[in-house]
Amino acid sequence: MNENNDDDCFNIEEGNDYDVGEEITGLVCFSGGKDSTAMLLRMIELDDPIKYPITRICFADTTFEFPDLYAYIDHIQLYLDSNYPERGFVIEKLQSKRTWDDWFYGEITRGKAKGAIRGAPFTTQPCWWSREAKVTPLEKAAKEINANFQFIGIAADETRRISKNPKTIRYPLVDWGWTEQDCMAYLEHLGIPNSLYENFNRLGCFHCIKAGPADFHATWANHPEEWKIAKHYSAENTRLVGRNWIPAYTLEELEELFEQGFVPKRHRELECNTCNAVSFFSDGTVEMEDFDTDEAIEHDPRFKDSSMNKTIIEEAKEKIEWVPPSQRATKGLGWI
Ligand code: SF4
Repeated sequence: MNENNDDDCFNIEEGNDYDVGEEITGLVCFSGGKDSTAMLLRMIELDDPIKYPITRICFADTTFEFPDLYAYIDHIQLYLDSNYPERGFVIEKLQSKRTWDDWFYGEITRGKAKGAIRGAPFTTQPCWWSREAKVTPLEKAAKEINANFQFIGIAADETRRISKNPKTIRYPLVDWGWTEQDCMAYLEHLGIPNSLYENFNRLGCFHCIKAGPADFHATWANHPEEWKIAKHYSAENTRLVGRNWIPAYTLEELEELFEQGFVPKRHRELECNTCNAVSFFSDGTVEMEDFDTDEAIEHDPRFKDSSMNKTIIEEAKEKIEWVPPSQRATKGLGWI
């Protein structure tokens, strides 16, 4: 572990809007994943209210987390209670007012697809549920304490997830040089590893459209109740908007393959930038993506997004012709 405590790496004096003597407030964005857990516990250990003020610890609940994750969060709370009783840390669980169903069954509000059922978020676009269930509640929580800093658990080997770095956002793991592996090792050292990583590459909503077949296989094999819910929304998405859950398959089709013994290889899944932590895209503010515009090129069912990158998206936007959901076939979309 290459922890670097050099003040140069964490210059809180530079460019921040608070006066000397004023209480410095910090919101820890805690997801229950290995990185944000390691970050939180190390911040507590360092006990430095100037560099690492911990005014609130907030977990933004998507309501689609694995039961094991909720249990792990409770376990971390107990750990805090027994190891730091005098500091009174409370992990707050935040939930948005609008539900997943409000969005999923809601209508697109503008653009060419206005009036159509929105359906699931798009695989390669920012996720509306991430904004609703995570970014917005965390932003609100930060405002309520007038947070000088928000602490985000992005590991030092994941810095591509940091876009522009607003002055109020801090990435302690990056400052310390802690990689994902370091975070795992640290939690093991403390005796509180997160067992979900035995089966999953990434945590987040169990039905996430950005998860890969390997994660769906793990859900199918280990979490039958959650798999049933994921399949439900996959079927609804195909029925209502004509899109498969992942480009090549519905989850029902994947299940048939799993039952025949198909075990998908692991590869890097598409990421939810706001699930393991919150990413802030523009300088000092959270970019609130507009999900209802025609820019969402996955409205085109011919679009095969498995190897997408930004250039391809831009090129594709030039070429494709948008097809309204009502005119799409629900099978044989040519995505396989
Ligand atoms: S885990 Fe997936 S579905 Fe859940 S908020 Fe993130 S991108 Fe969206």
